[in-house]
Amino acid sequence: MRAFFGPGGVLSRSHAHYEFRTSQLEMAQAVEAAFREKRHVMVEAGTGTGKTLAYLLPALLSGRRTVVSTGTKNLQEQLFRKDVPFLLETLAGRGIRDLKVCYMKGRANYLCRQKLYDLQLAPHLPMELDPHAALLQKIRAWDESTEMGDRAELAFLPEGTQNDALWRGIDARRETCTGQECPQFDRCFITAMHRRAVESDLIIVNHHLLFADLALKRTGNRGVSLLPSYSAVIFDEAHEVEEVAGQYFGTSVSNYRVDDLANDCEALFGKGSGSPELHAAVRRLEHNAEVFFGLLAGPEGRVGFTEREEFRSEHGASCANMLSSLEGLHSALASLPPAPPESRSAVREETRRCIERALELRAELEFLLENNTSSFVFWIERRGRGVFLQATPVDVSTLLEEHLFADTDTVVMTSATLSVGGSMDFVRRRLGLRYARDYVLESPFDYGSQAILYLPHDLPDPRHSRFSDRASDEVVRLLEATGGRAFVLFTSYAQMDLVYAQVAGRVKFPLLVQGTAPKTALLDAFRSRPGAVLFATSSFWQGVDVPGEQLSCVIVDRLPFAVPTDPIVMARSRRIDEDGGNAFLDYQIPGAVLALKQGFGRLIRARTDRGVLALLDPRIRTKPYGGLFLESLPGYRVTSDLLEVERFMRKEANVRSHR
Ligand code: SF4
Repeated sequence: MRAFFGPGGVLSRSHAHYEFRTSQLEMAQAVEAAFREKRHVMVEAGTGTGKTLAYLLPALLSGRRTVVSTGTKNLQEQLFRKDVPFLLETLAGRGIRDLKVCYMKGRANYLCRQKLYDLQLAPHLPMELDPHAALLQKIRAWDESTEMGDRAELAFLPEGTQNDALWRGIDARRETCTGQECPQFDRCFITAMHRRAVESDLIIVNHHLLFADLALKRTGNRGVSLLPSYSAVIFDEAHEVEEVAGQYFGTSVSNYRVDDLANDCEALFGKGSGSPELHAAVRRLEHNAEVFFGLLAGPEGRVGFTEREEFRSEHGASCANMLSSLEGLHSALASLPPAPPESRSAVREETRRCIERALELRAELEFLLENNTSSFVFWIERRGRGVFLQATPVDVSTLLEEHLFADTDTVVMTSATLSVGGSMDFVRRRLGLRYARDYVLESPFDYGSQAILYLPHDLPDPRHSRFSDRASDEVVRLLEATGGRAFVLFTSYAQMDLVYAQVAGRVKFPLLVQGTAPKTALLDAFRSRPGAVLFATSSFWQGVDVPGEQLSCVIVDRLPFAVPTDPIVMARSRRIDEDGGNAFLDYQIPGAVLALKQGFGRLIRARTDRGVLALLDPRIRTKPYGGLFLESLPGYRVTSDLLEVERFMRKEANVRSHR
């Protein structure tokens, strides 16, 4: 590792912007030791460490098949297209055998060739796809040349409601795939993706795919597992693991899922299959689902489903109708007459899948309605037209231990935010990484000179009615001092709307607000409009990268405690209290510390970045726990004097103008 990362080493001769970073070498050595000694390790490495190369090199040299799991698809792309090729090129000619690397995403990211060809052969497009005829033409042309079939290659089809509707008609998701019965099976992009993975030394996935795979294995579905066997796994953005694991080790039934099944059953009629009984069963399911999900639908957002017994006794008939209509659908599908010979095998396979899905849905719904286990929290979420009935494990640590850590001798968890007050105990407990070694590595940035943390001393508590007015005044003054170029981050939409309404009209900078456009469009606008200010909530607290002076200020309205009424937060807090702990100290404070570190981490992304951080919540100074927040943040210069902030920004402007 030293010969590669050290001064005068391989990297120094091959990287145009090389600089020696002790923390990068330390991290590479820690990861290399984890591979050699087959152990688990947690590494907190701040932005600028160069952690990607520090874990990729030991993984590539280990001679073992390794899975690297990232937080986002964008990060997957960056590893696959930039970091890995750079390393492979640098290693070429140094006696290292040819290494194979691939990436895998969820099936819905890939094109289903059979669906595309079916559409081509159909006398006319289905009504919902009709407005997209021109785009489909372009996709047909792309199909002729693409090797991966990955939607990310289609620059003309960015994610968004309209495009997603089109893509859903031609994607390769499992529910609609006929597998080996499909005439395109050998040319299928999913088949090719699996072949590449089996031959690869390094497989780059995202947390969602990795946990979908673990969840399938957990339910005994090894036959349909997504990933080939591996003996080492590296989690980048490891602070997201608990949430994603909870999602995939849980269960979710929604009206969308029922609609999809009903639509796919209906589609069998167009393929020469079907029966009057199936038609009636689909109608009955649709009707009962409308009634059932209508009873569950509440206000937008998440609420606990704690009164399940009362719900069952009050709406017993609707619950029973819902379960029995899934059984009815299953029987109608199972007794379908044989499909015509020319389409028999594919239609038979589609029918089999529908039968399987009806059974799965019924079993999951029964679990959600009737199971009394205390290891899950049951809750309901409404998002627009969608109603989701969900169960999430209260504690994922034992599941992770059983289904991941016990089987995988080498696990590396890394992120810029894992430690609280210099200790990894919180993440260790939450994830069940009992025996992992841990390292908290220094960032190479000089935070003391690059950033100033402004903590106004005379703002009221955020729960006070005057807080929004006073916070808005501070935001206006800060924006004037920094020339806009700011993220103003909130813990709730309501607070964001309030402050935005009070700031708009008082500053001359272009203001952008979350919810008015897709996230990528907002970020593009932020990067391209001088002085832009973005008002946003939690989804912009992490994974957002705007290096350079366009982002010179990050303002956080309050300490980002998880919403205490959120059903999952409530259940986890209760469990900690019942086990003799203190949920506020052991769970809510450390969680908020990591969230604040993430939010502030948006500002300094490079050695040349400079700027202002502001926290408008006085509790960081007035409450006993505030010290832990301050202790956990990098060594920013701290002030309560706005004049000092203005001087800092003026000095920065001078330095820039002389560069
Ligand atoms: S094997 Fe499945 S995903 Fe692949 S082309 Fe056929 S139906 Fe589509």
